[in-house]
Amino acid sequence: MRSVAEHQRVVAGLITARDPVDVAVGDALGLVLAADVVAPLALPGFDNSAMDGYAVIAEDVADATEDQPVELPVAEDIPAGRTDALVLAPGTAHRIMTGAPLPTGATAVVPVEATNGSTETVSIRTSVTPGQHVRRAGEDVTAGTTVLRAGQVLTPAALGLIAALGLGSVEVIPRQRVLVMSTGSELVASGTPLQPGQIYESNAVMLAAAVRDAGADVVTSSMTEDDVDLFRAELQEHARDADLVITTGGVSAGAYEVVKDSLRAEVDFVKVAMQPGMPQGSGVVWGTPIVTLPGNPVSALVSFEVFIREPLRAAMGLPRPGRPHLSANLAEPLTSPRGRRQFRRGVLGGLEDRSGATTVTSYGPPASHHLRWLASADCLLEIDEDVTELPAGSPVQVWDLS
Ligand code: AMP
Ligand code: MG
Repeated sequence: MRSVAEHQRVVAGLITARDPVDVAVGDALGLVLAADVVAPLALPGFDNSAMDGYAVIAEDVADATEDQPVELPVAEDIPAGRTDALVLAPGTAHRIMTGAPLPTGATAVVPVEATNGSTETVSIRTSVTPGQHVRRAGEDVTAGTTVLRAGQVLTPAALGLIAALGLGSVEVIPRQRVLVMSTGSELVASGTPLQPGQIYESNAVMLAAAVRDAGADVVTSSMTEDDVDLFRAELQEHARDADLVITTGGVSAGAYEVVKDSLRAEVDFVKVAMQPGMPQGSGVVWGTPIVTLPGNPVSALVSFEVFIREPLRAAMGLPRPGRPHLSANLAEPLTSPRGRRQFRRGVLGGLEDRSGATTVTSYGPPASHHLRWLASADCLLEIDEDVTELPAGSPVQVWDLS
């Protein structure tokens, strides 16, 4: 049997980054920069007012106080967006709004709160120092500065900066495109009445969501019957549009194992020493990497977590691609099969035990069809191959899914 670590290496080796592309700023949230962003212009682009108030020459109001205001004629009114070049004559003021260009000659802005607010003759009750309430050109960014580095995730703030620099698109590492295919003649889609022996398809829905949650795109999410010709036709039609194919079902030891029967030449089917999720496979079909997951829902999602999520995110350049791992103390005793790395569903206790460690409770039975418990778990407990019994209070490794 292959170890979990070995299968992780094999799958990670299949998943590779796509070439960088230019995307519109509006579509770039969450993507990773493929190149540094160099400012083509300065921010602010021109000296402008930091307050609503009056542009003045600081010396003209040097003696202004509450008791002895200075009066100046208001020669211009400058709202934000005014584009003509203005000059402030000594002994005058211009009414000016936040973000409006400072007239040539002005050295400071008096806030409107320290004036009578007039548009004719303004009465100014405070002095200002040269430069006060003025935002200087380039004080945030000078043209030619590297403002964002390759490898940074595009957050709303980063996109705001890029937009402020007048850039309409950015060079990013594109999302991985993942084809999700579930197999099984017993599966039907929601909305269709169930015949005896049929079940509603859930793996494709679940894995497509897991793919998106990992930051990747789903190209198609489909289900096919256990029919080799149908399965291969569906796979061939969509594989070339994808960077990765994920299948579920049809890989265990029974008859009618459609994935195994269809891809003997292309996929290496192996047993991995883990529970759940022993039957696994990986390879390349029509030029696209493929990972074949078992059909039991818990096995399918745990396998995605253990083998696919981290390399998928790494291929998109995302920092911290893996789930955070932590150590927590078991609230209750646990048994685990010898020779298998067991992944149990768990709930992290917000409470700390007497040693100050976080506690974790194993949640639901180990069998791989108990979807309900998985749905409300917030972590996976990872128990080593050689461990068979863990008393309450033992430290265990936990994958934080939250
Ligand atoms: P298989 O690996 O195909 O033998 O499937 C193992 C178990 O998982 C069976 O009980 C299947 O009915 C179930 N199963 C397989 N695929 C799905 C799916 N897409 N949605 C829900 N259950 C599934
Ligand atoms: Mg099946």
